[in-house]
Amino acid sequence: MPAICQPLQEIERRIRAAERRFGREEGSVKLVAVSKTQPPAAIAAVADGGQHAFGENYVQEALPKIEALASRGLDWHFIGHIQANKTLAIATNFAWVHTIDRLKVAARLNAQRPRELAPLDCCIEVNISNEASKSGVSLAALPELVAGFRELPRLRLRGLMSLPAPAADFAAQRAAFRALFAAMEPLRERGLDTLSMGTSADFEAAIAEGATLVRIGTALFGPRG
Ligand SMILES: *Cc1c(COP(=O)(O)O)cnc(C)c1O
Repeated sequence: MPAICQPLQEIERRIRAAERRFGREEGSVKLVAVSKTQPPAAIAAVADGGQHAFGENYVQEALPKIEALASRGLDWHFIGHIQANKTLAIATNFAWVHTIDRLKVAARLNAQRPRELAPLDCCIEVNISNEASKSGVSLAALPELVAGFRELPRLRLRGLMSLPAPAADFAAQRAAFRALFAAMEPLRERGLDTLSMGTSADFEAAIAEGATLVRIGTALFGPRG
């Protein structure tokens, strides 16, 4: 195994260990490798290690990388703030969008998702820490946004996503993720199955609270330049 894949193996090992430690089913947590600022060669090296899902935050940065790696058949997850004038590029080039927080953007993605592609897998971003400065829908506004997806057949609402404020310790990390888990409960009967939560700093706490997708960048690729 090339040396470059060791961080991927280590992250996979920690994810499996957290699944066992917190009573999660083996393989129920999937890794989204967050590759923002990383060049195609670094992404290719992680893909060589068996990683399939990659997360990008900026459309302009992502498009040439998606193009460069097109022959590999990777799944691209959009995890950044969505500008309304970027929805066509997102709907065309990504398999998942984690950060929908308003119906206007969802409606544009629905209208622009190419017919020849499967419906776009989506998560609604929830502002779980209630910080005025951060993106994401409030818990109070969540039911109305969920209901709006009924009219959008080219989108497949899969679940919720959050990027909580940094927490002081493991218990505080868990508390924020537990709030997102609780918000998900009434939505499960509609078939939602995805909780996108946890980064390099706190993914084990997220797994303890039910994460199904963890979004990890620096622990995998090293610090961003
Ligand atoms: C950058 C980013 C991550 C990854 O953060 P790391 O600390 O590098 O693991 C996860 N989620 C979102 C939304 C991000 O912007």
